[in-house]
Amino acid sequence: MKSSNPVLMVEGLTVAFDGFRAVDNLSLQVAKDELRVIIGPNGAGKTTLLDMICGKTKPTSGRVLFKGEDLTKLAEHQIVRRGVGRKFQTPSVYEDLTVGENFEISIPKAYGIKTSLAFKRTDAVRKHIHGFAEQVFLGDVLHQKAGRLSHGQKQWLEIGMLLIQQPELLLLDEPVAGMSPREREQTGELLQRISHGRSVVVIEHDMEFVKRIAHKVTVLHQGQLLAEGSAAEVQADPRVIDVYIGH
Ligand code: ADP
Ligand code: MG
Repeated sequence: MKSSNPVLMVEGLTVAFDGFRAVDNLSLQVAKDELRVIIGPNGAGKTTLLDMICGKTKPTSGRVLFKGEDLTKLAEHQIVRRGVGRKFQTPSVYEDLTVGENFEISIPKAYGIKTSLAFKRTDAVRKHIHGFAEQVFLGDVLHQKAGRLSHGQKQWLEIGMLLIQQPELLLLDEPVAGMSPREREQTGELLQRISHGRSVVVIEHDMEFVKRIAHKVTVLHQGQLLAEGSAAEVQADPRVIDVYIGH
């Protein structure tokens, strides 16, 4: 793992809501090819951190450098175009469209492929979509309405819809929430696989799952960085046990 040339550098990031610091002077770095897991008790500021990286929430102070550029100066859609993909906690897919159609509308316009549903799909587009669907275990259900998928499959579809945009940084908020044990296992494998060639930041609660997937774990507590290291290291850290794992 290369940590010398981080893709993402969060520097002194702070946001206050009516004086309450949800994220408080937080700094962290994520390398290319890295799968970082963020843990911490409810209200620790995990989701708010991702909100600031993707531009949904503007920080009170601090910077978010992505490949050297300060994202806090950009609008959400500009950040997406820079190559940052964000998945929120609840899956948001188009339930009335098929899995394939959900992929199709997610293909970036910049590809120069006609993406309107009114157009007949070319073999190239169909192959492209099938490739991404297979990556997220949905190759066999391309023609099914997304509304009929299991909760876990909807999570995969949303990850796939982000992957087809080929982001360099992927932010995933509790992607295995509501998944069956088998789906979790597959998702662990998926997350490992998609961290090659990009950076992935995952918020997750289940320590067994975290241990399986994380390269490095960042522990947040009351908006601040409490600990950082391997899953084993943070799990053995008395401060972490005190505020988080022990409860
Ligand atoms: P986590 O994802 O770690 O559970 P959050 O980032 O969602 O925590 O929230 C951190 C804290 O910030 C919580 O106390 C939450 O109530 C507060 N918070 C988050 N967003 C806002 C907001 N827009 N306005 C006011 N308080 C907020
Ligand atoms: Mg959250």
